[in-house]
Parts: sequence; structure tokens; C-alpha cells
Amino acid sequence: MRIVLVGPPGAGKGTQATRLAEKLSIPHISTGDLFRANISRQTELGKLAKSYMDAGNLVPDEVTIAMAKDRMEQPDAENGFLLDGFPRNVSQAEALDELLTTEDMRLDAVLDLEAPEDEVVKRIAGRRICRKDSSHVFHVTYSKPKTEGVCDVCGGELYQRDDDAEDTVRKRLEVYHTQTEPIIDYYKAQGLVVTISALGAVDEVTGRAMEALKRDGDGA
Ligand code: AMP
Repeated sequence: MRIVLVGPPGAGKGTQATRLAEKLSIPHISTGDLFRANISRQTELGKLAKSYMDAGNLVPDEVTIAMAKDRMEQPDAENGFLLDGFPRNVSQAEALDELLTTEDMRLDAVLDLEAPEDEVVKRIAGRRICRKDSSHVFHVTYSKPKTEGVCDVCGGELYQRDDDAEDTVRKRLEVYHTQTEPIIDYYKAQGLVVTISALGAVDEVTGRAMEALKRDGDGA
């Protein structure tokens, strides 16, 4: 399956993507995680991306598309992938379509995670991620680690992302509304969008997503 996950920052895309990718046996490709890995390794791409990320802006399309394309062309993504955080604007969606068409592939579904703004702000304010693996995500109230500040999965230190600071979050939400939301209409025109509520327990949302993808896969 080839799936795109969309939703505002804080909707739980990363958490759900990890779980769905495992259930569907496809790689979870997060452009945010790829950028953060570059920042940790202090690559040129990381340095460039950090300046945009810290301001809550999108990293320029040219480098983002090249990085996503490179990851999608890895052998593990041959039979499918779950994209989390890409595409994030209509030009990236067009670039993805072009790439898929060249390879004679198509998307199966675009899963839209819906969550009200006050809820996503609460989720982001308490979010803590692991320094060793940014796909390990916790929350100071909703998903507490067993030991404060320590990742349950790998023992890494938990920290708050620089771009989870309140001002940056507001900017990221604005960018989501103006630049990312239009891709939902873009994909609706292709009949690919499945919308589910991102509210409730993590397991509940995963169940809802799996059901929705199954229904969609059956052509219902
Ligand atoms: P995320 O982890 O998906 O919330 O992404 C964190 C930040 O990385 C975003 O606020 C952007 O600055 C940058 N980023 C991630 N994916 C993209 C993308 N597809 N296009 C441009 N910037 C991105």
C-alpha cells in the first residue's frame, strides 16, 4: 500500500504512522524525522533545514522533494510506504504524483487525521521526544514515560522539540492551514481522501485508521 498521512501538527501523525506502518509491513517515511536525523548528524542539509524548522516554516521544496524521493527509492519502499509529513503543499503533491507516474505506481489512500486546534496545541505543549530516535514520542500527561525524561523504548533522553515552543507552534498551524490543507482538496479530486477523527486513545485511533483504510481498499 502507498499511503499519505495528513493532519495538523499535534494530531498524532508520527505516533499513528509508526503503528500503521508496522501493521501494514511498510516503511514509515517521515520527512520531519529525516530532517531531524540530518540536524543530529550536522550535515549541510540539516543546517539548512534547521533554520526553517525553528521558525515554523517549510523547508524549501527543492531539497525536501529530493530527500523524500531518495528515501522512497530505497529497496524497502519498493512495495509500499506510509508518508508522514510529505507532501506538505500542492507543489510537493504534484512532484509526488510525477514520481509515482514515472514508476507506474499510484497512491492507495490519503488518510486525513482531524483534530480541533485547542486539542493539538495541548498535545504539542506536552510532547517530549527521544534524542536517540525521534519516532519515540511521549507526552507529560497523556502518554507518560515510566521514568520522567527517559525513553521507555531505548533509554534515550527525552526533550522538547525546539519547534514545539508556543510561538513556533502558532506559526506551524498557520502554515498548515495556508499551505498544507489545500492538498486535501487536491487529493479529494482524485478520490483518495479518507478522513478520521484523531481524538481518543492512541489504540482507538489506530483501530479507526485501519478500518478506514480497509474500507477504502475494498473500494467502498
Ligand atoms: P514534522 O516532524 O512533520 O512536524 O516536521 C517538522 C518540520 O520539518 C516542519 O515544521 C517543517 O519545517 C519541516 N518539514 C517536514 N516535512 C516537510 C515537508 N514535506 N516540506 C517542508 N518542510 C518540511
